[in-house]
Amino acid sequence: MYLWVQLDQNVRAKNSHGQLTTTNSLNDKMYFENIKRMHDEMNFDGGFKLEKVTTTNGKKLSYTVNETMMRIELPKPLKTGQSFSFKIKYLYNINDRMKIGGRSGYEYFEEEDNSIYTIAQFFPRMAVYNEVEGWQNKQFLGRGEFALPFGDYKVSITVPSDHIVAATGELKNPNSVLSKKQIKRWEKAKNNYTDPVIIVTQDEAEKNEKEKSKKKKTWVFEAKNVRDFGWASSRKFIWDAMAVDISGKKVMAYSYYPKEGNPLWEQYSTRVVAHSLEVYSKYTIDYIYPQATSVHAKRIGMEYPMICFNFGRPEKDGTYSERTKYRMIGVIIHEIGHNFFPMIVNSDERQWTWMDEGLCSFVQYLTEQEFERNFPSRRGPPKNMIEYMKGDKSGIVPIMTNSESILQFGNNAYGKPATALNILRETVMGRELFDYAFKTYSQRWAFKHPTPADFFRTMEDASAVDLDWFWRGWFYTNDHVDISLDQVNWFKANTGNPDIENPIAKNKEDNSNTYIGDTRNQSSISKTVTEKNEKSVDFYTTYDPFETNILDRKDYENYLNSLNDEEKEILKSNKNYYELHFSNIGGLVMPIILEFEYLDGTSEVVRIPAEIWKSNSEKIKKIFILDKELTNIKLDPFLETADVDMNNNYWPPRTEPTRFQLFKQREWNQQNPMQREKKVKEILEQE
Ligand SMILES: [Zn+2]
Repeated sequence: MYLWVQLDQNVRAKNSHGQLTTTNSLNDKMYFENIKRMHDEMNFDGGFKLEKVTTTNGKKLSYTVNETMMRIELPKPLKTGQSFSFKIKYLYNINDRMKIGGRSGYEYFEEEDNSIYTIAQFFPRMAVYNEVEGWQNKQFLGRGEFALPFGDYKVSITVPSDHIVAATGELKNPNSVLSKKQIKRWEKAKNNYTDPVIIVTQDEAEKNEKEKSKKKKTWVFEAKNVRDFGWASSRKFIWDAMAVDISGKKVMAYSYYPKEGNPLWEQYSTRVVAHSLEVYSKYTIDYIYPQATSVHAKRIGMEYPMICFNFGRPEKDGTYSERTKYRMIGVIIHEIGHNFFPMIVNSDERQWTWMDEGLCSFVQYLTEQEFERNFPSRRGPPKNMIEYMKGDKSGIVPIMTNSESILQFGNNAYGKPATALNILRETVMGRELFDYAFKTYSQRWAFKHPTPADFFRTMEDASAVDLDWFWRGWFYTNDHVDISLDQVNWFKANTGNPDIENPIAKNKEDNSNTYIGDTRNQSSISKTVTEKNEKSVDFYTTYDPFETNILDRKDYENYLNSLNDEEKEILKSNKNYYELHFSNIGGLVMPIILEFEYLDGTSEVVRIPAEIWKSNSEKIKKIFILDKELTNIKLDPFLETADVDMNNNYWPPRTEPTRFQLFKQREWNQQNPMQREKKVKEILEQE
């Protein structure tokens, strides 16, 4: 009947639904940057200009464009296994990323009149047709990314002859675009598994920058079984490479960057690419493509098959902060990781951001920690999610929210799912069961289109751990974790032996506080007694209720005789019975992890599965039978559940002071967290 083709560039067309449905507001104080961007977006002549849609032999096809989707009528319905080829002639204006943003576009370097082009969504792409929803033709509004089928590509890119081009796939005509020297270096890199080899040097790049050739060259790339195609081109590119061994198969790690990226990029980028391929392969599936490329692109982190665009630029003088360095390493790991989610495990990004971003961020955390011990990972550790999860619920939506409607994008679709998976791995399932199930999901759904339920089911299917409660709480609600240890009651069995119990009772009585009336009576009696006759006092004090007499002992003997051996054993055991009361304040049921500290200085950790909440998800009690006396109990002692309030996690109760900050009025305005977040978001855009 018809085919659906995606016209993503139309999101930049005048009056696109993406623009019309963007909500915004003005404040008394606005950044120039924001206003300028609004103007530039309004004035940009974007969108695909379609010239022709025809069959391969030039016959016109009838088509309808609805915003970012185009329906092409087929001359006759396609039967299973049949194919249909068609041609689209089109053009579009490339956007200046620094002015109006975008995952694709160019960065212009004014002082030298050169640009770095990072190009994607540049051609009409096929929509997915699958067995779950038929055609996936949900409109592109700008945030919910892409749903794409796999295909084989052969792409010829004609650029000025002094440009260096990076792209999805393998370069098929190196002899016509690279110098003999460069090809030789490339050959050397193919056998170098330890350090990157520079193929296009900084000197050569700086020469290219000045040359501004009017001649052209065509670079030809081929890629098999990829869901998309992206590329980058510039005279400014330095190129380095090294080989990586993935289960005995050679994969090339590449980086392309301008001199502005150095010294950071030549030192880290390619090494990080290689490391990421190794670690992601270990936890998911072996990387199957021939290469993986990291391209320097100011401000953004954005992924395509075999190629990604990454931020991280030192100051003009080449110095950089630790923050810049780690953020750059982090973004390269993340974007290379997207080769696995969603480029291979091909989830629908238009619907579910977490299925690629969340899973990718989770393995990113593992990869960062294997790159460097105590790498300052932003996402992964449960404690990093606490501020978000305990926040105002009107600003928090469940993870299972369509991409366009997500609030607090980074926390919702990256941070929270990464933390959730980390909790499954460390706390709920354990590393062995989790890693096996996660790998199973990756293998089972590689080169397919998994839905959320496919992920949820596979994790249970491969582990025999019932996780329904976990998906429900963490993915379908905006609840948080706050489990409180409300009360601890200590019991010991009464031995029934009056020679033991009476002294205990007496001791308790002697050590208990005294009623104020008794104290006052006592002192007035003593006064009276002294005044009258001391002997009369004996009358009041001869009776001792704790004294053991022969009848008490007889009773005890009868009691003992009534018991069998097992019961006698229990009576003798002298165990401590601790009854612990817990309440679930945050709403998320979770395992209960307790650390018991004993009077003798030893300690013990007890782990209780979340099923403890199975018949009451709000309040529960549990008895612990212990040989030794407790001095302290800690709930979640290793900070593994993202419990947002630790004040109710201790017995005896312990309160940590919260430090509040003092600001003068004006400074506070500048520090307003909402404004700061907005600004940071604008700077970082999407990863
Ligand atoms: Zn991402």
